[in-house]
Amino acid sequence: MSVRVRIAPSPTGSLHIGTARTAVFNWLFARHHGGTFILRIEDTDLERSRPEYTENIMQGLTWLGLTWDEGPFFQTQRMDQYRENIQQLLDKGLAYRAYETPEELDAMREAQKARNEAPRYDNRHRNLTPDQEAAFIAEGRKPVIRFKIDDDRDISWTDLVRGTVSWKGRDLGGDMVIARAAAADEIGPPLYNFVVVVDDIDMAISHVIRGEDHIGNTPKQILLYEALGATVPTFGHTPLILNQQGAKLSKRDGVTSISDFQTMGYTAEAIANYMTLLGWSPPEGMDEIFGLTEAAENFSFDRVNKAGAKFDWDKLNWINGQYLHKLPPTQLTDLLIPYWQQAGYAFDPEGDRPWLEHIAEVIGPGMARLDECVALCRYLFVADVGFTESATNQLKQNGAAAAVQGVLEALEKYETLTADEAQSIIQTVVKSTGLKKGLIMKTLRAGLTGDTQGPDLIQSWLLLHQHQIAIPRLEAAILVAT
Ligand code: GLU
Repeated sequence: MSVRVRIAPSPTGSLHIGTARTAVFNWLFARHHGGTFILRIEDTDLERSRPEYTENIMQGLTWLGLTWDEGPFFQTQRMDQYRENIQQLLDKGLAYRAYETPEELDAMREAQKARNEAPRYDNRHRNLTPDQEAAFIAEGRKPVIRFKIDDDRDISWTDLVRGTVSWKGRDLGGDMVIARAAAADEIGPPLYNFVVVVDDIDMAISHVIRGEDHIGNTPKQILLYEALGATVPTFGHTPLILNQQGAKLSKRDGVTSISDFQTMGYTAEAIANYMTLLGWSPPEGMDEIFGLTEAAENFSFDRVNKAGAKFDWDKLNWINGQYLHKLPPTQLTDLLIPYWQQAGYAFDPEGDRPWLEHIAEVIGPGMARLDECVALCRYLFVADVGFTESATNQLKQNGAAAAVQGVLEALEKYETLTADEAQSIIQTVVKSTGLKKGLIMKTLRAGLTGDTQGPDLIQSWLLLHQHQIAIPRLEAAILVAT
């Protein structure tokens, strides 16, 4: 059997990390088996669905490298198909029109509550006579369409993640609504559980791999497959992503959409790598840092955990750092330029390219996130960077003024500067002032960068000198030091 899987996001928000992670598992499974990965946009919620979210979802999947082979298919374009299938169920007597008013349904639930029973539809309109129906229609009631659920059915499936899962028909809440209210000779808008099954049948989905939050829908959907005369696919319910407190990760935990992670300076590779690790353990001997293709080769559901996976920012930052440290400076520069531009730093992306690549080379090894480059490089782009309190303290140390003065005098002879020349300037100042090298270095850092910590000092000095910032910066430092 060929593997056909799908990701079926609703375009009611940006691509969520949970949906993206489900997409990862589907993609890995499809690629492992040489199967097909399909994108279906579940846009039947007309009020909350937006084209810009569809755009965001497709961009996010593409950015992550989760390319799809078929689609995007849109549910709103398949309404006639759903109605045809509902009509089939009505014709076979497997579904019926139910005419209760919302008030009647509320009263039914209240009565159940009063009897300490779980709320459910009590199937009261399952066997209406034609006369009863006619009377309701005459009253102007608009019926929903309900699918019959046999209370005595046992439903079970072998889940790819959770093994055997069993449900009782009576726990499914009674006959379920598959189409919203409409005139009695029409079929109203069909609902999620129904359209998903019709789509999965029509798209010949072999494995339904989705978040654990859908597990309660699966028994209802299995009954719908049977009613529609279709083969039931294999199901796999993947564990949810949790916050540090063990609750489902939500907006309150900071960022939850893939585009937010992108803005924050995570690489697509790191996010894809981390999402895979959230719920899947690589086989013995496989490194934790891997690309999607390598993960696909090794992917199997027996290494997917049952328990929810806690989202760990430190781990993600560490993984992202691993990717950033490996990036060649040219590629890193391409990724950093938008952040520097966004920060309003003035530079010429083409003319200054070698200088920018040199910066990337210097800061790359210490970075965990791309957006750090804004604060990290401020001293390189902003002429009047100011001096932090600790830099000011450093510049006020005994001998600091002489150190800066000595460096300035030596530096004026150099139009360009190499690392060796910078080192020999420091040696000269050590000799001429008798100050300790450590004090000179610290003072130089404070004077050149306006801070007492930051990227490599000698390289920073070269970069500043190349852009004619080193001398005016040291001149400003003298004023603080004296
Ligand atoms: N549209 C559903 C969601 O966004 C997915 C349904 C499914 O995978 O069956 O969660």
